[in-house]
Amino acid sequence: MSVSAAQKKSDFPHLWDWEVPRAAYVHIPFCRRRCFYCDFPISVLGDRLWGESSGSIVQYVDWLCQEIGATPNSVTLNTGLSSGASLKTIFFGGGTPSLLSPAQVHRILEALAGQFRLDDAPEVSMEMDPGTFTLSQVQGYLQAGVNRISLGSQAFQDDLLQQCGRTHQVKDIYEAVDWVRQAGVQNLSLDLISGLPSQTLAQWTESLQCAIALEPEHLSAYDLVVEPGTVFGKRYEPGEFPLPTDDLAAQMYRTASEVLRAAGYAHYEISNYAKAGYPCAHNQTYWRNGSYYGFGMGATSYLQGQRFSRPRSRVDYAQWLTTYLQQEGRVDCPVTSPSDRLFETLMLGLRCAEGVNLKTLSQQSDRPLLDLFTDVLEPDRIKGWVELTTEGTLRLTDPDGFLFSNSVLVSLWETLSGLE
Ligand code: SF4
Repeated sequence: MSVSAAQKKSDFPHLWDWEVPRAAYVHIPFCRRRCFYCDFPISVLGDRLWGESSGSIVQYVDWLCQEIGATPNSVTLNTGLSSGASLKTIFFGGGTPSLLSPAQVHRILEALAGQFRLDDAPEVSMEMDPGTFTLSQVQGYLQAGVNRISLGSQAFQDDLLQQCGRTHQVKDIYEAVDWVRQAGVQNLSLDLISGLPSQTLAQWTESLQCAIALEPEHLSAYDLVVEPGTVFGKRYEPGEFPLPTDDLAAQMYRTASEVLRAAGYAHYEISNYAKAGYPCAHNQTYWRNGSYYGFGMGATSYLQGQRFSRPRSRVDYAQWLTTYLQQEGRVDCPVTSPSDRLFETLMLGLRCAEGVNLKTLSQQSDRPLLDLFTDVLEPDRIKGWVELTTEGTLRLTDPDGFLFSNSVLVSLWETLSGLE
C-alpha cells in the first residue's frame, strides 16, 4: 500500500469498517409504577421494594453480570486490528436505576471493568428519579464510580406531574438536586417534557426557568410522544385537546431553544443542551452512529454492524440469556447494509448542531453526496432549514431546521433510495 493510500485510509476510515465499542448501556427495568406516557420495557415494583429487598432486582443483577461476563471483550476489525479497548462511557438507563442499591451498581461496574477494562476517567451516567433515593444512596453511587446523574424532573407543576402518573412532586426535585450536589456530583442533567396534556406555554416556560435556576450542567427537553398502548395513547389523539396543537408544540420547542441558549446552554442536539464541556459523551456515540454494547432487558447493542435488541419482557429476556450463555456470547443477526448505515449516519449526525461533513462522508461511503444533495436541499436552504458550508458541512438550523428535520431527512432518503 502506498503512503498516500495508507494515509487516506487512516484519515477517513471506511464507513463500513466497524470500530471497537467504547460505550456500554445497561438497562435497569424497574420502576415504582408506570408513567402514563411510558412504553419502555420495565417491571413495576410498587412503593416499597428496592435494592436487595427485591428478589426481582437481585436476580436481574445476577443476569446482567452473567450477560456482561459472556460478552466477547475483543473485536476484530475489518482492518485486521484486534483490540479489547477500554470503555469510555457507561450509561445506567431505565427504568429507574436509583432503585438499585449502591452495592448492586458497584457489582455491575466491577463486572464491566473485569470484562472490558475502564478508561482512567470514564463518564459513568445514571438516570435517577426524584423521590426514589436518599443522600447516602447518592454518596454510595459516587463511591461505586458514578459521576454523572440525569434526573427525571419532567415538569415543575404538581398537577402536571400527577396527570402524567409520575410518582414524584416538585418538592422532591429540589430535595434530589440538593442531595446530588451535597454528595459532590459535578455533572448533573435535568430532563423536562413539553407537550403534556393541558400544559400551557406559560407552564413550560416556568419549568425551563425553574430548571435553569437549579444550575444543572446539562438539560434535556423532550417533546411528548404519545405511544400506542400507553395510558395516554388510549386517552388522547395527538394534536387534539388536551394535547397541544402542532403550532403550540412548535412554540414550546422554539421557547426552549431561546430560553436555554440565553441562559448559556449550547443547543448541541435536537433535544439536548449543555454548558461548555458538558455534552453527554455516551449519547454522542449514538448520534455519531458508533458501536456500543447494550446489556439487559430490551437493551440494544450495535457491534460490528449488528444492531441487536434483546427481548423486552423479563421472561423472554431470561430465556434469551440462557441461549446466549450456551452460545458463549454469539448473536446472529443481519449486518446493517451499507445504504442503511449511510442513512443512519446522516439521520443521527443531523440531530447534532455540528451536523455532518458531506465531503468526509463521501470519501467514507464512496458516494458523491455533496453533488447529490446540493440541488435536492436547495428548497430547504431557501426556507432557512439547512446550511451547507463551503467546507461541505451540512447542518440543520436552530430552531427551524431541527423542528422540520423529518422533512429534510425524507428528501435525503429519497435521493439515496434512487441510487439503489
Ligand atoms: S420512570 Fe421512566 S421508565 Fe419508569 S415508568 Fe416513568 S417514564 Fe417509564
